Amino acid sequence: MPTSSLYSRLFGYAKAYKWAYAISLLGMAATAVTEAMLPAMMKFLLDQGFQVQSELHVVAIPLAIVGLFLVKGLLIYVSNYVATWITTHVTMALRNDMFAKMLRLPAASFADAQGSYIAKVLYDVLNIGETISQVVISAFREALTVAALVAYLLYLDARLALIALCVGPVIVGFVRVFSKRLRQAGRSGLESIGQLTHVLEESVACQKIIKIYQGQSTEKHRFESANARFRRSQMREAIPASATTPLTHLAASVALALIVYLALNQVNQGEGATGVTSVGGFVAFITAMLMLLAPLKKLTEVNTALQRGRVCAQSVFSFLDSPEEADKGDIEWAHPLGRIEFQNVSYTYPQASMPSLEAINLCIEPGQTLAVVGASGSGKSTLAALLPRFMSPTQGQILIDGVSAEQLSLTSLRRHMALVTQEVLLFNDTVAANIAYGQINPDLAQIERAAKAANAWEFISALPMGLHTNVGDAGMKLSGGQRQRLSIARAIYKNAPILILDEATSALDAESDRSVQTALTNLMRGRTCVVIAHRLSTVQHADRIIVLNQGRLAEAGTHSELIQRNGIYASLSRLQFNDPTSGASN
Ligand code: ADP
Ligand code: MG
Repeated sequence: MPTSSLYSRLFGYAKAYKWAYAISLLGMAATAVTEAMLPAMMKFLLDQGFQVQSELHVVAIPLAIVGLFLVKGLLIYVSNYVATWITTHVTMALRNDMFAKMLRLPAASFADAQGSYIAKVLYDVLNIGETISQVVISAFREALTVAALVAYLLYLDARLALIALCVGPVIVGFVRVFSKRLRQAGRSGLESIGQLTHVLEESVACQKIIKIYQGQSTEKHRFESANARFRRSQMREAIPASATTPLTHLAASVALALIVYLALNQVNQGEGATGVTSVGGFVAFITAMLMLLAPLKKLTEVNTALQRGRVCAQSVFSFLDSPEEADKGDIEWAHPLGRIEFQNVSYTYPQASMPSLEAINLCIEPGQTLAVVGASGSGKSTLAALLPRFMSPTQGQILIDGVSAEQLSLTSLRRHMALVTQEVLLFNDTVAANIAYGQINPDLAQIERAAKAANAWEFISALPMGLHTNVGDAGMKLSGGQRQRLSIARAIYKNAPILILDEATSALDAESDRSVQTALTNLMRGRTCVVIAHRLSTVQHADRIIVLNQGRLAEAGTHSELIQRNGIYASLSRLQFNDPTSGASN
């Protein structure tokens, strides 16, 4: 993205606050003028103040000094306040946009970049905020101050001022040279922050695994090397940043020396009556020049922030521009029946060499249950994930009630589906909020019914605050089976015509399995169900069973048909039914 469009896009976010911006700019301009008034006051004091000994001057000049600083202080306060107000608003808007974007990203994109999404939303935006405040507050005010002081210098003595201004291009040269290095350092800084977040996230999530497998030193090493990389990039940023100021000052001192030399010569030779020939004029000129140093220093520092901001803005905007979940369908699926048909469906994961599903043809009538069995890795979850369009088939199509799933709007497609997965995902909220997740007006009586149907009511009512008990981070305060029953209650509450159960009962012990199984049987009645289970006992009564083998549909039929066929299903069945621990005898 070219730099200009980067800035104009950033400016687009600030546009809503143009009035605040105007106030802030006005305040800054006024501050800059007060800056030039101090040397002017000096000139007046030295040229006339000590000669005209009027009572008025003795009081007025000291008062004017305090007054000047009072006005200046007020102006600085107001313009800083307003600039911070704008900055925080822009950062907030950017962060909200990024979060909204993240929610619309395709499921597949999360497999690669979880840690760095968090870092992007948290840190990259923060850096942009700092840049805006630096650029809005410092750069503008300092540039105006420089302009005011330079104008005053030109007014005092144009020739000397022009000589002094020759340092300008030298300083610009330094800044240019360092900008590229600053950007490189900024980019590597962002990458290492991404890695740091990643290691941090993973170490929190996998803390038990780290403890038992004693991965502390591995994790420590991973964290430390990312941290060291971050430090190095900070150093790479600091070197040009801290070199600019002394170099700028050196160049300015050369100019100052030259001016002093010329001015002294001028005074000695008694040349024409330029502003600088008076003692007051000379002091004012030198004062104004010295006063230029501080804003110049700040301006060169702004460059550091500006370069970092540019890198961050690039990262944030390319994130905001990344492709979203495809949703080209415009048919509202308003009256679902629940007929599902796979027509020659294949799916290959991005960057995978082999298809995970190949040429699948099948049909599920409304209200029927399809069971999917097969070894792990045979493609069962992939098949289930195609239904709510977490991804789209790479070949073939899925028809829902006779319409291609791609043509249905994503919202209406997902509104009529409920999903229970193997890894139970709960929010750090109350039991009730987890069951009625996504509902704006949850109905407590209905939540209770769902909990009862999922055989979860017994443990819920034993919780300290019942339905209003917080489940902890990712449901940590509940057992695996309890978590699973909550996620089943969530599906029951949604009451959708299509139900997908991906190993939904895997975390249950035999006892709760049986009661949940009853709940599930109730839930499944009258709905189209796709049930994935490794325990054949749970799929025996399905209307149809398909067996997947390495992504291909190997066998299909009812339980008894498949047993008779004496193929994969029959041998799986023999294995499980002979094994007393399989729970198949339930
Ligand atoms: P099952 O649920 O039957 O155990 P899956 O549908 O999860 O199997 O996986 C089928 C195949 O697809 C496996 O070989 C697996 O390695 C592969 N696979 C699953 N998810 C991804 C992914 N995100 N990226 C690449 N390959 C994947
Ligand atoms: Mg699976």
